[in-house]
Parts: sequence; structure tokens; C-alpha cells
Amino acid sequence: MADHFVQQLIESLHEKYLPCREGKVASYIPELAKANPDWFGISIVTVDGQRFEVGDIDQTFTIQSISKVFTYGMALAERGRETLLSRVGVEPTGDPFNSIIRLDENSKRPDNPMVNAGAIATTSLIPGKDITDRLNRILTMFGQYIGRTPYIDVPTFLSERTSGDRNRALAYLMRHFSMIEGDIDLALDLYFQQCAIVVNCQDLGVMAATIANRGVNPCTGERAIESDYIRDLLSTMYTCGMYNFAGEWAYKVGLPAKSGVSGGIIAVVPNQLGIAVFSPPLDGNGNSVRGIRVCEELSHGLDLHMFSSQMQCQQILDRIRG
Ligand code: GLN
Repeated sequence: MADHFVQQLIESLHEKYLPCREGKVASYIPELAKANPDWFGISIVTVDGQRFEVGDIDQTFTIQSISKVFTYGMALAERGRETLLSRVGVEPTGDPFNSIIRLDENSKRPDNPMVNAGAIATTSLIPGKDITDRLNRILTMFGQYIGRTPYIDVPTFLSERTSGDRNRALAYLMRHFSMIEGDIDLALDLYFQQCAIVVNCQDLGVMAATIANRGVNPCTGERAIESDYIRDLLSTMYTCGMYNFAGEWAYKVGLPAKSGVSGGIIAVVPNQLGIAVFSPPLDGNGNSVRGIRVCEELSHGLDLHMFSSQMQCQQILDRIRG
């Protein structure tokens, strides 16, 4: 694949942005501060299973907020759209991911499933016999997207659990408004564990490609989610996935996407391919600096913007197939 134009493009982007020194590695979860700011990987996986990758694609890290997309899908499948909508809205906030100020004034719902409040409420809806069963079911679901059963990074889980007062405050506020039922500590533990699931850049590429492939993992052929819910994931990713940068991202990159504070970003070209970039230094919005640059250039270079009129999506895949 070395002479393939997609491979050449990601190699040149990797070389161009490796020297970039902007951004800071997240440290509000102390364990995350151990990340090396030079880690940098790019992975593209097509719906027919072709892979293009460069850099630190095997380096493991915790999935953090990228997990929100997948538990939202699981909650939708298990509890239905109506229940989800009654507890978690679908409005972009324009606020930071951990914003504490906003629950919808009338409904008291958190605004959307991609900010922390909405994600905690979403995870609290995942059913199961007990906490272990609920966690195992979440891990099994992630395993279908990744193609192997994932595990949790216990130090990161504990680090967030002991430092996560802001999320704890959000959870209490939501329980006050009956947006979360039951034990707050169990709901938070489940959320913190979901955020501490270990992935690498290749995994994220496959996960993004699974969404692109309408719920079927293109590498294993296994279905991870009913295709009916893909539109829910894509539309909330598009409007809310990049937090208070979502509007500019939609304008410049034009793809449904989700970022996490470990430095991962996934972006989906529906029916075509998944993109993953991993690089820990973050900008002020909590998004990977190199990740944003690479996605902007990929979108431009491969003409991927959803509303670009220059090339129809199918033509992109045809070009990649050669
Ligand atoms: N676990 C992190 C938190 O709740 C996830 C945030 C993120 O990745 N943006 O703060």
C-alpha cells in the first residue's frame, strides 16, 4: 500500500505535523499527564476493510469521551429513542465538555449525549443484573466495534474516580432533577470505567469504520449495532461531537466526529470509511491539536466534506479502490 495516494497523504501529514509543539496534554485526570506529547498516529479504515496507517498506531491510551458515542448507541438500542430523548437532549451546547452550568431550563435534561452530563445520564441507563453485569455488557459491546474484548486501565479509572468532583457534582444535580436514577456512585463508576477502556489508534479507525459501515465491523463482519441507530450516532456526532468547536469543525471538516481528552479523534465518512488520529496535546477546547489539523487536511485533500459538491461519496471509494 506504500505507493497508494491515501498512504502517501497520511505519511506526508504525519511528517508535517510531528514537529508541531502546540497544545497541552490533559492533566486534570492526573494519570493522563503521563502521556508523551510526541505520540502521533493516523489510521484510515474503509468499509471494505482496507487499512492505511502511519505513526504510533499501536500505542495504547484510554478512550475517554470517544466512548460516549458507543454507549449512546447501546442505550438507544436497549432503551429506545423515546426514553433516551426524555433524559438526554440532542442540542449542541457551545459550552465546554465538562460544563456544569447548563441543564435544559425547561426539561432539566442535559443538552446532549456527547458532553459529560449527558454521557453520565446515558451510561446510567444501560441495564444489567448488577454493576458487574452492566460493565461486562458495555465491554462486550465495545469488543464488537474493536474486534477483540477490551480491558480497562485501572490506574486511569482510579485517577478519575478520585479527582472527578466536577462529574460527581453533575451527577448529583441530575439526580436532583430525576435525570439519573439510583446510586450515583455506581453510575459514575460505570462512566469512569467506560472512559478508561484501553484502545490504540488502529482500534479507533476500525470503530469509526464500523459506524461508517452502518454498524458492521468491516474487519470481523460482526454487527455491533443495528443500522437503524447509525443516523442517531452520526447526527449527534456532527452537531455535538467536538464540543464548543463543533460548529467550526462542521464548517471546515464537515464530518461527524468525536474527540477525547487522551488525544483521540474519530471521524466518519458515512458508507465509505473511518478516520482516527491520536496525539495527546490538546487545544483550549479539549480537542487534539494535531488531530484537528490532520482531519482538516484530510477532508480537504480527499474532498470528504459532507456538503462538498465536487465529488460524490461513491467516487471517493472508487478512487481508493483504484
Ligand atoms: N472522562 C473524561 C471526563 O469525564 C472524559 C472527557 C473527555 O474526554 N472530553 O472528564
